[in-house]
Amino acid sequence: NQMTIDGLLRRAAEVYGSKTSIIDGDVELTFAELDVEVDAFASALSELGVTKGDRVAALFYNQWQFQLTYFAALRLGALIVPVNNRLVPDEIAYQLNDAGVKVVVYAAEFAELVTEVVQMTSVQHWIGAATTLEATVSTTPLEPLLDRHRGSRPTVQEAVQHLDPSGIWYTSGTTGRPKGALVTHASTIWAAISLALTARMTHDSHVLAVAPMFHRGPMETTHVASLVLGCTQAMLTTFSPDGLLKAIERHRVTHAFIVPAMSYAVLSLPDRGSYDLTSMRCWLTASAHFPEEYRARLESETTLPAGTIFNAYGITESLLVGVLVPEEAVHHPGSVGRPAIGARVRILDGARKEVAAGNVGEIAVATPAIARTYAGRHDAWEAVTFLEDGAEWYLSGDLGYLDSDGFLYIVDRSKDMVITGGENVYSAEVEKVLVSLEGVGEVAVIGTPDERWGEAVTAVVVPRPDADLSVDAVVEHCVGKLAAYKRPRRVIFVDALPRNSFGKVRKDVLREQHSKRDA
Ligand code: ATP
Repeated sequence: NQMTIDGLLRRAAEVYGSKTSIIDGDVELTFAELDVEVDAFASALSELGVTKGDRVAALFYNQWQFQLTYFAALRLGALIVPVNNRLVPDEIAYQLNDAGVKVVVYAAEFAELVTEVVQMTSVQHWIGAATTLEATVSTTPLEPLLDRHRGSRPTVQEAVQHLDPSGIWYTSGTTGRPKGALVTHASTIWAAISLALTARMTHDSHVLAVAPMFHRGPMETTHVASLVLGCTQAMLTTFSPDGLLKAIERHRVTHAFIVPAMSYAVLSLPDRGSYDLTSMRCWLTASAHFPEEYRARLESETTLPAGTIFNAYGITESLLVGVLVPEEAVHHPGSVGRPAIGARVRILDGARKEVAAGNVGEIAVATPAIARTYAGRHDAWEAVTFLEDGAEWYLSGDLGYLDSDGFLYIVDRSKDMVITGGENVYSAEVEKVLVSLEGVGEVAVIGTPDERWGEAVTAVVVPRPDADLSVDAVVEHCVGKLAAYKRPRRVIFVDALPRNSFGKVRKDVLREQHSKRDA
């Protein structure tokens, strides 16, 4: 059944059988070999009682066993529940219980973490890849399980259909506790194909797993797309800027999903110009605002070919909303592009009425890639969706506008807008101006409590290494570029910004840290 994610793996095994599918360190698997391993693991899971509708969690870095677990669960009609490996034990236990997880499969690197979590959950089985932990807690090692079942095909109790749920993917928790988006096979297949077309992937593309695969954005677009097209994927287990550039060189990478914080880390490498990045065709930036300065600097300070940066606006619940392709970036700098293939975008006022081009409102999207609901929290889903014109519209919580050419611009997250003296200030607008100042490495603008203004526009700045930056220079730089009320009233220098696992700035943490009045 090619309308299921696992059906696409079956097809890939038939059509591209002897081609390399995954390279993870010393491990290399062809599509046919991956299919055999997935059969073996699905058989083992089935023996443990996993059937359609059950939940199987995966706790990994970017590792081939993550994909093994993903496809084995889906082959049985179970739902994959990827776990953010940066969470603390309490948070992991919360998610596992929240999602009603039956089996957890984890990497050896997380063995200690698992010992702490085991007691707090009702999970029935723990399976560890290459771990020696079984002596201390009752977990099953993965490899002997695979050996025992290699060659068998699982019995699938009930056929898996394309509208069946395929997973529970948690949002990245930039604005609060992550929500578990319940997604379907159909929504993911759509997103993967739409990304493949937009990012111009072909059978010969070489994909690198860079952003964490436990986030739906990378895994269910670039990586599922690799399966559809038969592309080879290499794994960068954990991110480091030089590790990324070396991997691009070694694997002649063409496509990678790279979040803006990673681009910044690359631009901070002294020897960034000495790596051969000429194989790249799509440096896909997504998940947070991508400063236009980075585009120019990546093209001039590294060997990244010009015209290869794609800016994708993606959301866990809906995947691709808009994509700015390189040719269009010239005339629409700062935009997140036209609506993605199959997506409809509307800008709405407070009464959910569409506003005219050029006016700011909340961005709403209707797309075949949409999630079905939030697992166990349908009320929360109903609060952010509505039906109109035959489609379900999802309210993104982002403020933006469409220009007269139909290009979408994000001005801010609604929660990050600063209200000072009754005026609305979009933090992203102020950040764009500040990041263009020589010596500013990164910046986050937040509102902090202020007796007189309600909130004061506050710039939290990370200076570039060796930069000689003063508060006056930062404020002075805004004169003539920003109206007086938008200019920062407070400037705070810090060494680094607090970020989540997706590299996004935790403005809620910053607001908390700097909330003391007149501090
Ligand atoms: P939570 O919903 O848990 O607070 P989150 O909103 O970060 O976390 P995600 O689904 O990971 O959850 O991220 C979606 C958000 O990321 C979007 O709503 C938008 O604010 C931001 N975003 C994504 N892509 C871009 C982009 N290309 N440019 C600017 N912002 C982006």
